[in-house]
Amino acid sequence: MDYKTNVDYRKKTLIKLLDKVLLYESEIINALYEDFKKPAFEAILTETSYVVAELKDTINNIKKWAKPKKVLPSLLNFPSTDYLYKEPYGKVLIIAPWNYPYQLALCPLISAVAAGNQVVLKPSELTPNTAAILAKIIAETFNPEHVSVVQGGVEVSKDLLAKRWDYIFFTGSVPVGKIVAKAAAVHLTPVTLELGGKNPCIVDETANLKLAAKRIVWGKYINAGQTCIAPDYILIQKDMKDKFITHLKNEITLAYGKTPKTSPDYARIINVKNWSRLSEMIDPDKVIFGGETDKDDCYIAPTLIAETNLDSLVMKDEIFGPLLPILTYASDADLHTIISRYEKPLSLYVFTENKSFAHKIIANYSFGGGCINDTVVHFSNKRLPFGGVGHSGIGAYHGSLSFDVFSHKKGIVKKSNWLDLPMRYAPYEGKLKTIRKLLKWI
Ligand code: NAD
Repeated sequence: MDYKTNVDYRKKTLIKLLDKVLLYESEIINALYEDFKKPAFEAILTETSYVVAELKDTINNIKKWAKPKKVLPSLLNFPSTDYLYKEPYGKVLIIAPWNYPYQLALCPLISAVAAGNQVVLKPSELTPNTAAILAKIIAETFNPEHVSVVQGGVEVSKDLLAKRWDYIFFTGSVPVGKIVAKAAAVHLTPVTLELGGKNPCIVDETANLKLAAKRIVWGKYINAGQTCIAPDYILIQKDMKDKFITHLKNEITLAYGKTPKTSPDYARIINVKNWSRLSEMIDPDKVIFGGETDKDDCYIAPTLIAETNLDSLVMKDEIFGPLLPILTYASDADLHTIISRYEKPLSLYVFTENKSFAHKIIANYSFGGGCINDTVVHFSNKRLPFGGVGHSGIGAYHGSLSFDVFSHKKGIVKKSNWLDLPMRYAPYEGKLKTIRKLLKWI
C-alpha cells in the first residue's frame, strides 16, 4: 500500500513511467499509425509529447500538490489552524476512447497514480495496437495490484462497471456516458464523464476570413475530424459565405494537396462501421468540396457541405468525422435558434474582431470551453480546466486540477486548547445577542 501513503513512492513510479514512455515512443507512434494511420506528426503533437509533458509536470509538482494546505480559519473556531488534506479515493476505473487512445488513457492514469490511487485502465478495443503497447508499458512499470490494464470490448467494459469502484473516469460518447453514470449510481461512486457534443463555430462579418479558414481547417481535419473538440458545424454571417468557402477550399488544398488520400498527413476513419455512419451523412447534392470516400481504406475526404436543413442527418448528432456543414445566419436570433437546438456542447468557437460580439456569445451560451479566433488549442493549456457541461460531460481535468479530480478533499480543523470560548455551549441563556454579532463578522 506504499502508493496510498508514500508520495515518494508514487513519484518514483511516475519517473519509471516516464522512462518507459520515452523508451517506447517509436512503438507508440507505429501503433497509432497501424490503428488508423494517425500521422506521426499528429501522434507526437497530440499524444506522445502531451503525455511526456503531463508526466514531467506531475513529477515536478507532486509533492506540492499532495501536501496538506493551510486555509484561513473561521473566527467562530478561534483559536484554530485549518487544513485541507488530499486523500486518494481508492480504486479507480479509467475507461478510454479510441480517437486519442494513448493520451486519453495515460493522462488520467498519471494523475490517478499521483493522487495515490489503485488504477484499472480499460483502453478502447478499436485501437488494439495502442491498447497492446499501453498494456506492455503499464506491466513493465507498475506492480499489477497498483496499476493494471484490462483489454477488451463492450462486454469487458460492462463487467468492469458492474464491480464496485471508488471513482470512475470515463471518456467517450454521450450514450455510453449515461450507462457509466447509471452503473456508478448503484454504489454512489463519483464520476468524471468526458463526453462529446455538437460544437458550433461562428464566423462573423468582422473576422479575418483567411486566418479563420486556416485555423478551422486545422482543427476540423486533424485526426480526420475524429476529435471531441473539433468544430462540428460552421455558422457564417450570410454575406461572407461565398468568400469564406473559397478560403476553406484553399486551406484544405494547401494542407492536404489536391488528393488528400495520398497525403501522409491525413488519418483514416477508425473502422467500417464509422465510415458507413459518416458516408450516409454525405448528401452529394450538398457537397461543395471533397465528398470522395473509399470503404476498403476507411477513407473520407475533407468535405464541405452547404447545409440549410437542421433536420438533415449531418445536423442530427455529433459528426465526429471530416464532414463540415456550413450554415448561414443573419441575426442573433438565427444564431440562437440553431445553437440552442442542441444540448450544451463540449466546445464553441467564435471568429470575430468584434470584442463585444465575442463576449456576448461566451456569456449567452453554455459550453465546456473554447476559443476566440482559434479552434481546439484551449486543450493545450494545463491551467484551463478541460471538460463539458450538461450532456457534454461532468467534471474537468488537466494540470493540477487532475490531481484534485482523483483526491477527496478532507477539511480538518486543528483546535488549540489554550482558550475555550464558552459562547457555543449550553445553557444558551443570555448568549444570543453576542452570538448574533459574532455571526455577522464571519
Ligand atoms: P464510446 O463511448 O463508444 O467508447 C468509449 C469506451 O467505452 C470504450 O473503451 C468502449 O469499450 C466502452 N464502451 C462502449 N460501449 C459500452 C457499453 N455499452 N458499456 C460499457 N462500456 C462501453 O466512445 P468512442 O467511440 O471510443 O469515442 C468517441 C466519443 O468520445 C465521441 O462522442 C467523442 O466526442 C467522445 N470523446 C470525448 C472526449 C473528451 O475529452 N470529452 C475525448 C475523446 C472522445
